[in-house]
Parts: sequence; C-alpha cells; structure tokens
Amino acid sequence: MRLTVLGKSPSWQDADGACSGYLVEEDGLRLLLDCGSGVFAKLRAVTDYHAVDVIVISHLHADHFIDLVPYAYALTFGPRRRDTPPVLHAPPGSIECWRRVVGAWGNDDLIEAAFAIREYDPAETLHSGPLTIRFLPVPHFLPANAIEFVAAAGGRFTFGADHGPSPELCEFARGTDLLMLEATLLAPERAGMRGHITAEEAGEHAAKAQAARLLITHISDELDLEAARSDAERTFGRPVELALAGASYDV
Ligand SMILES: [Zn+2]
Ligand SMILES: [Zn+2]
Repeated sequence: MRLTVLGKSPSWQDADGACSGYLVEEDGLRLLLDCGSGVFAKLRAVTDYHAVDVIVISHLHADHFIDLVPYAYALTFGPRRRDTPPVLHAPPGSIECWRRVVGAWGNDDLIEAAFAIREYDPAETLHSGPLTIRFLPVPHFLPANAIEFVAAAGGRFTFGADHGPSPELCEFARGTDLLMLEATLLAPERAGMRGHITAEEAGEHAAKAQAARLLITHISDELDLEAARSDAERTFGRPVELALAGASYDV
C-alpha cells in the first residue's frame, strides 16, 4: 500500500500547501482519504481526478471535505465524462451538511449528484477492492472517525483523523504498521474539551499502540516541524516521520 500526502496542513493551508488529503494506492485501487482545502489541485498534480475510485471522509470539518466542491464541479462540468462516479464514503449527516454548504448559493445537490455517496456507519466494516476499511469514533469538536486500511496482500495503515487524547484509539491501532496521527498543538488546550493533541502526545499514543511506525501530520508550516518531530520521538522512543506534502510512504 502506498500513501501519498497531498496536504498536511491543519485548518488553514501552508504556503502553497493544502489541508487534509492523502492518496492511498493498493493493487490498482486509488482512494482519496479526506479532501480538505487545496487538496483537489494537489490531487491533480499527482493523478487524474477521473482515476480516483473511492473517497473516504473522516469528519465534517471544512479542512477535511471542502474541496469536494471543486471536485464536484469538475465531475459535473469538466470536458470529460466517466461511466460511474467515484464512490464517496461519508460520515453520518454528510448529505444534509453538504446540501447546506452548496445550498448557500443554490446548488443544493451539487455534491450528491457528482459522487455515489454512501454515509457509513462507523460500526461497520467496508470492503473496497483490495482494502478492508474500519472506523473508530474519536473525541473531537464534532463526530470524527479514525480510519484503518488493511490490504489483502498485507499491510495495515491507521489514520487517527483529528482527535483529543484517546486510549480507545491506541487500542484500535494496536500493532499497526503505519500510524498517522495529528500533532496540531504546541501545548494541550487549557479550557474546554480536548479536540487535538500535541506532538508529544502523538508519540505517547503511538508508543501505547505499539505501532511499528509513526507519521505525524496536521501541523502548520508556522510551527517548527523538526521540534515537533523530536517531541514525538522523545515519547515514542523511536524515529518519527513527518508528513510532507508530495511525499509517499510505503506500508
Ligand atoms: Zn483538521
Ligand atoms: Zn477537525
């Protein structure tokens, strides 16, 4: 399985970057994991958007889905047609949410007409070609799901999505080959609910999960990436990889 980072920014893009978006490729299947601000252009730089078979969205924050809007326009008004629309596995409530987003300018059914949308139940297991996909609800400011991909040929990749501290996520990811966790914060939130973690906490989660490798993401280019890496390495106890836009990671 190959993971390519299209965007790793948090809710505002890096200079010339994109928010959450990752291309997962396995045995001819092309899957887009999240489609945040700026991701559609980055996707186009690495593959034909008509070649994407499946899209999976972790949660309904703009930095994880808003580029479904230009993607839907491309599928609807672009010069080329495809026989079957990309399958879009979306969290519960997506259709209603997206109707409101694009309905703001009167295009209510733009997204649902462009994709074959299916709202998943986080309790179910999906099968998409050579991949088996599982979800785990994680603590965030709205319902969000960690997502696991297991390839039929071997290889397991776990994406934590956006989340506060979660022992359940460590359990869900136990023994995974590649764990990609957010490292959004410089310091834990002092008030209100915990909806994100620090790099140090990402390392703690990965150590607890006994993950083979840790990849940290959802970090602004306004922060010190190398400092985040060493914070995570200190608690993980092993080298940590940084999600870099355009880079690929084999699982
Ligand atoms: Zn986010
Ligand atoms: Zn979020």
